[in-house]
Amino acid sequence: MHKKKIVIIGGGPAGMMAAICSAALDQEVILIEKNERLGKKLLISGHGRCNVTNSEEGPAFLKHYFKKGNFLRDAFKRFSNKDLIDYLHSHGVGLKTEDNGRVLPVSNKASSIVEALQADLKKNKATVLLNAAVKRVRVRNGRVYDVELDKGQYVTADAVIVATGGMTYPRTGSDGKFFKTLKNVGHTVVPLRPALVPLEIEAWPGMVLSGVSLADCIVSTTDSDGSKHTSRGAIIFTHWGMSGPAILSISRFVAETVQGKGSASISLDLIPGETEEAVRAWLLAQKDEHPQSLVKNILSRKVPKSVGEFMLTALSIEHEKKCSEISKKDINKLGQALKRNEWRVKRCRPNNEAMVTQGGVSLKEIDPKTMGSRLIKGLFFAGEMIDIDGDSGGYNIQLAFSTGYLAGGSAIHVEARHEK
Ligand SMILES: Cc1cc2nc3c(=O)[nH]c(=O)nc-3n(C[C@H](O)[C@H](O)[C@H](O)COP(=O)(O)OP(=O)(O)OC[C@H]3O[C@@H](n4cnc5c(N)ncnc54)[C@H](O)[C@@H]3O)c2cc1C
Repeated sequence: MHKKKIVIIGGGPAGMMAAICSAALDQEVILIEKNERLGKKLLISGHGRCNVTNSEEGPAFLKHYFKKGNFLRDAFKRFSNKDLIDYLHSHGVGLKTEDNGRVLPVSNKASSIVEALQADLKKNKATVLLNAAVKRVRVRNGRVYDVELDKGQYVTADAVIVATGGMTYPRTGSDGKFFKTLKNVGHTVVPLRPALVPLEIEAWPGMVLSGVSLADCIVSTTDSDGSKHTSRGAIIFTHWGMSGPAILSISRFVAETVQGKGSASISLDLIPGETEEAVRAWLLAQKDEHPQSLVKNILSRKVPKSVGEFMLTALSIEHEKKCSEISKKDINKLGQALKRNEWRVKRCRPNNEAMVTQGGVSLKEIDPKTMGSRLIKGLFFAGEMIDIDGDSGGYNIQLAFSTGYLAGGSAIHVEARHEK
């Protein structure tokens, strides 16, 4: 078979995997990256440790992409989390599984993964162009023709795979600018919003709590359609609001509401294992069991001392109040504060603090069996730039690898351009 020329734009996990896959199938592959090196975002992922995937099995995995998981069925069939783990093992990257199924390199270094991918690109003879930004993709007669680089050169292609990432952490190179180019060739881009992002709280009075964390909370919010969403895990208070896994996970729903100019609020359940009634009964029992103890000391059995004191202040309950002096009204207020602690969200933190982007190239215009454009022949998409975002826990990097693998494998089947 005549070799096809496949150009891949973007050297993140999606682009690198697409390039490896096409090159391993003996095609002429050019991977174009605007940075001076590959995988800049991958290198900072998971605090530099790279939570590369999750060990969750079967259909449950797809639920971590919210309502859009079904779109990924074919991509995951071709390259699942297990395939990624096997691939990395066979390329010298030892992996371990931590809490909540998070899979990370044994070295605790994202660089182990980037190095393995670079070595595989080299082994498969993919050409890598660094410091080269693609300005646009050119289309003729309904099919891709070439790409134009910022320095004015043109690179012809039988197929182009766009893996330019989302718009968050723009200093890593994925700044969202390429979406405009895709709109210019007729693709629809679903509005971009941050996800996995900390939340600023309206008139936040909790600066004193900055740095304090709670290991296990349930955070809930109701979106503009009236659907309720919850997430569970740790939260961390900051000087402007809240962060931590449970806040990051719920943030995509909050972002949708606040960017739609609605007003979003979140509710914190600080003692997930107990009902509000049980918490109130426990507080009531303290009156008899520990009448001389201060309420603030009793509260510290359930939440960090600083959080308990913050609540007493917010509820105008004296800090020196003894359990024997606590009223039924105070008990009800404390029960509510511990189980239904409501906060209005001012806004999401800026894009340079968001881990992923929601929105992107409309799934209606992508064939999930190939990752090919339904509008333009020879054009493919992979990674965070499609309109799917995943939960925290390794799901976004897995999405990038799986869609990259599928796009790389599909692109080799395009009809070759005749003019060479
Ligand atoms: C701080 C942080 C921590 C994260 N931690 C995790 C984690 O532990 N686990 C997880 O699953 N996810 C994590 N993510 C998300 C994950 O890193 C991304 O979802 C993933 O990197 C997306 O891969 P991608 O290949 O689609 O895009 P990217 O990794 O963003 O790569 C896109 C590449 O395209 C290049 N590019 C863009 N435009 C052009 C152009 N015009 N020409 C040439 N090149 C271009 C960019 O420079 C970039 O290198 C984290 C994200 C951040 C910001």
